Amino acid sequence: MEPVALELKHISNIVRKRPLIIAGPCSAETETQVIETAQLLAQTGQVDLLRAGIWKPRTRPGSFEGIGAEGLAWLQQAKAATGLPTCIEIANSAQVDQALKANIDVLWIGARSTVNPFSVQDIADALRGVDIPVFIKNPIHPDIELWTGAVERVAQAGIGTIGLIHRGFAAYGNTAFRNAPMWHLAIEMKRRHEGLPFINDPSHICGRRDTLQTIAQKAIDLDYDGLMIEVHPRPDEAWSDAAQQLTPDALSTLLSQIVWRKEGCNNTAFHEALEKLRHSIDGLDDEIIQLLGQRMKLAEEIAAYKKIHGITILQTARWNSILARMKQEGIKLGLNDSFIQHFLDAVHMESITHQTEVFNRK
Ligand code: PEP
Ligand code: MN
Repeated sequence: MEPVALELKHISNIVRKRPLIIAGPCSAETETQVIETAQLLAQTGQVDLLRAGIWKPRTRPGSFEGIGAEGLAWLQQAKAATGLPTCIEIANSAQVDQALKANIDVLWIGARSTVNPFSVQDIADALRGVDIPVFIKNPIHPDIELWTGAVERVAQAGIGTIGLIHRGFAAYGNTAFRNAPMWHLAIEMKRRHEGLPFINDPSHICGRRDTLQTIAQKAIDLDYDGLMIEVHPRPDEAWSDAAQQLTPDALSTLLSQIVWRKEGCNNTAFHEALEKLRHSIDGLDDEIIQLLGQRMKLAEEIAAYKKIHGITILQTARWNSILARMKQEGIKLGLNDSFIQHFLDAVHMESITHQTEVFNRK
């Protein structure tokens, strides 16, 4: 399919600053909470945009689904009190209209909306003729075509400033993350849309406070243009996403501890390019290790069945067919035959070790 030609006019001043720091509560809860958060964030002098969820897309009903339009006035008050521009999630045309009436400065499309072209088109139609920056979060599942499609729909509606927010992807099975970063997909999206502000949301990637620093640093090292981080004056009491929110003080500490990429070019272009490539390689290696871990878990499950049915660990025919198939795939990817042999031998030996452990269990 032919890519849609994007007519992005300019990067609006409001989101041009680098690094762009967007912070605020997951959800607007009360007038006091919104204004208190805004004031504490403004005092840090490190925050550029105040975020708050007004309508919350929740996985299951019964959770707090957002305070609704009532909260828009609190954001207006917070802006008047602090000068911080405001930023909210919108998921349909009615919400776009209400946000625009309330003079919200920046909108974002959430991960649960980006997955649905009907929703994105509905939002895009409501934005036609409007001049407001729109950030688009990655879709929940790892599909950058869908993410790109959302950029195209919003751009076709005439929005001149579009930014991207990488909030991680749902991955089946437990990982260290609430949403797996899958850095290689984000990097590919960034490459495709060079020039669009590219923001990392470590809060929804980590789902917990203690790993935010590492992920935020990694994003900055990967040349992201900024961060969106959830902040609440009393995080443990938050009505949504309590485990991942920081106090304004903790945000300030996190931002101070980040090693920011130098703007000036003391390093040669070569060094910068090398750094980026190495980070991409680290990201892929992390994923390879995660996948190998998952593969061994499956081998253990298989071993349990083999044990019950009195079948040997080594199944030569099966092993031959895996090797043949992977060698064929490897050739297509430019991978050397003997590399595949060595690599799979090592994987196979590790799998046998895991299976033997299962067999030996009393
Ligand atoms: C949020 O930012 O609070 C939110 C709901 O995020 P996401 O769309 O990434 O889940
Ligand atoms: Mn949240």
